[in-house]
Amino acid sequence: MNAAPTAEPLARRIFAEQVRLLYVQAPLGTIASLLIAPLLALVHWDIVPHAILLCWLTLLEATVLIRLALIAAFQRRREPNADADHWAKRYTWACAASGACWGGCVVLLILTPSLVYQSFTALVLSGMLMGGVLTMMPVLVTYVAYALPLSLPPVLWLLLQDDPPRATMGAAGILYLLLALGTAQHYHQTLARSLRLALENAGLAQSFAAAKEQAEASNQQLAEQQAALRGSVEAMRELYEVISTPRRHPIDQVQAMLAMGCQRFGLAIGILSHVEAERYEIVQTITPGGEISQGDVFALDDTYCRDTLRAREPLGFEHASASDWRRHPCYLKLKLEAYLGVSVRVGKHVYGTLNFSSFRPRPAPFTTVDRELIQLMARWVGSALEQEQMAATAQRQQTLLAHASRLNTLGEMASGLAHEINQPITAISLYAETGLTRLRNGPVEPAELRETLEKIAAQSTRTHAIIQQVRHFARQSKPQYLTVRVSALLDDIADFLDMETRRHHVHLRQDIGPDLPPVLADPLQVQQVILNLVRNAVDATGSVDDPRTIRLSAHLGPDGVELAVQDNGSGLDPSLLRQLPHPFFTTKPDGLGLGLSISQSIVEAHGGRLWATPNRGAGATFHFTLPTATRLHRPERVELTL
Ligand code: ADP
Repeated sequence: MNAAPTAEPLARRIFAEQVRLLYVQAPLGTIASLLIAPLLALVHWDIVPHAILLCWLTLLEATVLIRLALIAAFQRRREPNADADHWAKRYTWACAASGACWGGCVVLLILTPSLVYQSFTALVLSGMLMGGVLTMMPVLVTYVAYALPLSLPPVLWLLLQDDPPRATMGAAGILYLLLALGTAQHYHQTLARSLRLALENAGLAQSFAAAKEQAEASNQQLAEQQAALRGSVEAMRELYEVISTPRRHPIDQVQAMLAMGCQRFGLAIGILSHVEAERYEIVQTITPGGEISQGDVFALDDTYCRDTLRAREPLGFEHASASDWRRHPCYLKLKLEAYLGVSVRVGKHVYGTLNFSSFRPRPAPFTTVDRELIQLMARWVGSALEQEQMAATAQRQQTLLAHASRLNTLGEMASGLAHEINQPITAISLYAETGLTRLRNGPVEPAELRETLEKIAAQSTRTHAIIQQVRHFARQSKPQYLTVRVSALLDDIADFLDMETRRHHVHLRQDIGPDLPPVLADPLQVQQVILNLVRNAVDATGSVDDPRTIRLSAHLGPDGVELAVQDNGSGLDPSLLRQLPHPFFTTKPDGLGLGLSISQSIVEAHGGRLWATPNRGAGATFHFTLPTATRLHRPERVELTL
């Protein structure tokens, strides 16, 4: 719709419309003039000299022809509303000329003595005067320019006649003139008002249509924005579902995220890559035809990823062969048509890229939501990788600390161990001495000697077993989660427990429930926890005069197998209860304060929990749980390539 006309001032548009109507109605008046003038001449043919008649007729018809020519030119004009003033002026002059020629009829009045002829001429002039009202009133000035020269000469001549009928005719002429001007003025105003109304209505209709169009455009825009919003909410929901699925390992989450991206972006291949210098390695992937698999390595320049890493925003194109991307080495080698990729950062460092691609062009362009979604996915992957890195570092440190703590425990148990090893060695040397003495004293029965040798062998086996346990306990190893029974764990450290309690004159009672389900645990670490708790219990009973007792129990609880180490020692100071698991908290003069905090970390890494309760009577109980092997996910960390 053309808005230009509404911008034009209303008065100008009304005037242009008036001029148009003037020309539309003009043919009627001109044709009337064209026909009536010869008729008048014919009536006067025998009375007025022919030369005068023909001269008058020629002049009048010439003006009429000029008006007809103007009408024709007006109809052929190119710009309908332009130059209204110009057209109005031209036609006004032509009408003024016509009016003047009609006014020239005064000659006919002068040359015709008959009142009848004069009345006929006056009638024709009145007709022309009144007819002009209808055809010329759209432009008032045109009508005035026509009417005044038409009527004034005959009227004035008639008024000047000393003859009542002619003077009356002149007076009537004046009245007709005034009436015609008044009527023209009235019609003109009415027309102007209705034109104003019509144009204003048209303007209103135009504004209404424009407003409607604008409202429709806004609605359309709103609908598009709503669709985009719905799309982005949907995408966020999917992403949230992927990353919030409980206990899902990051590897599975990344895999689920790749699947989600492939489906959402309509691309068949999803890749998490690791980039190092010029090396592009596939860390995780989804490829329908198995064209690419985990661990595959490409030259970075043969992938779209160098460009992806350079770009600050996600890089995407839908139809490589129809764009400059068709010259890219990746397109030349792999013919990947559609691609959307973004860099993945771990902390401040670039890790690689998350990208989706397809051998087929993508029909629709990637949307802002697509680009935002892939950016969010990359951020999540980056932080998951960072967490993995931190967890791996923490686990390494935890392993080192646990090892240091075990060595410390062994150090603390050194004198006991030395005693423990000394005893069988002393026994061995005694048995050997006895055997030798027998041999020196004469022949000995082989059976008698076998008995002594068997005793020596038994003692050396025992020594070997203790040394083996020390070596086992002192070794440094990565956590290894196995399905084990608690009783088997305890059997392996039975000697240590026995030695520690015996040495401090503590009575150790074991109460291990029958048919306990196996637990999924790293045996060495769990043994370390048990030994820590028992050694603490031994320390706690140090100042007790009553018979010192420790009860080591295990039973099946709601959270798995629950182990408890109960003593009748000094008990727990309630004000210090919260600080117990804090690293370096100790109440012992030579304590390190690491035993409980390491034990707690170990138990939590197994998916269990460690806590202490004061006993009803003397002493305290330390509990910890180990989820059973059947209901526990494997806590072992599977590291992404870092
Ligand atoms: P450390 O044995 O080197 O002090 P731990 O972390 O093993 O380090 O123990 C921290 C503190 O917890 C001990 O110093 C002690 O005050 C308290 N504690 C541990 N076990 C017991 C227990 N069975 N009875 C009373 N207090 C205990």
